[in-house]
Amino acid sequence: MKIVFATGNGGKLREASEILGEGFELVTPAQSGISEEIPETGKTLKANSVQKAQYIWDRCGQACFADDTGLEVDALGGAPGVYTARYAGEDKDFNRNMDKLLYELSVLETEASMAASVGLKMRPVSRRARFKSVVTLILDGEKHIFEGTLEGTIARAKAGNGGFGYDPVFIPDEFPDRTLAEITEEQKNAISHRGKALRAMAEYLNSLK
Ligand code: IMP
Repeated sequence: MKIVFATGNGGKLREASEILGEGFELVTPAQSGISEEIPETGKTLKANSVQKAQYIWDRCGQACFADDTGLEVDALGGAPGVYTARYAGEDKDFNRNMDKLLYELSVLETEASMAASVGLKMRPVSRRARFKSVVTLILDGEKHIFEGTLEGTIARAKAGNGGFGYDPVFIPDEFPDRTLAEITEEQKNAISHRGKALRAMAEYLNSLK
C-alpha cells in the first residue's frame, strides 16, 4: 500500500519504513509534489499531528499519516512537551535542545543541593521522562488516531551516535545502561513511542484487507 508520511525528517522516515515493513510503500510529501514546510501550530501533540496529516490530505487526497512527538520531563512540569523541536530556538537544533535540557536539570539539581546544604528538606530532582507520539492516519477522508509512549530517564550527558533528535540523552527503562543513541535501530523500534503507535496503525490497516 502506498501511503504519504508527512515528514521531512530522514531519521523518522527510515524508522517508519522499518516498523511498517514490506506491505507499505512510504512516500514523502516532496514526492507527492508538496515542497513547502508543513505548518505545525497546534497547542497539543494531537492537534499538530491532525494538522499535518490534514494538510497533506487536502493537497493530494492520498492515504497519508503524520506523527507528532514530544518529550515530557517530570521535573520541568512536562516541558518541553509540544515545544520539543523548538526548545532552544526556532532553528530546531537538536544539539542545542539537548544542551538546554541538560542545563535546566543541572540548575534544578544545584538549587536542590544548595537548599539541602543549609538544612532544608528537599526531594531529589527526578530525571523521569517520556516520549509520546500521536499518529494521525487519514484514509478516504476519515481520521484515525494512534498513540505510543516510551518511559525512561534523562542522562547526565549525551552518549551515542545512533538515532536522531534527543536520543543521546534519553535512557529507556528497557535498557537502563544505555541511551537510545547507543542501542540498535531494531532495539529502538521494538520499544519506541513511534514504534508502538505505528504498529497499532499497521494492525488497523492490515485488519481492513
Ligand atoms: P516532531 O514530532 O517532528 O515535531 O518532533 C519533535 C521533536 O522531538 C524533534 O526535536 C525531534 O527531533 C524529537 N524527536 C521525535 N522523535 C524522537 C525520537 O524518537 N528520539 C529522539 N527525539 C525525537
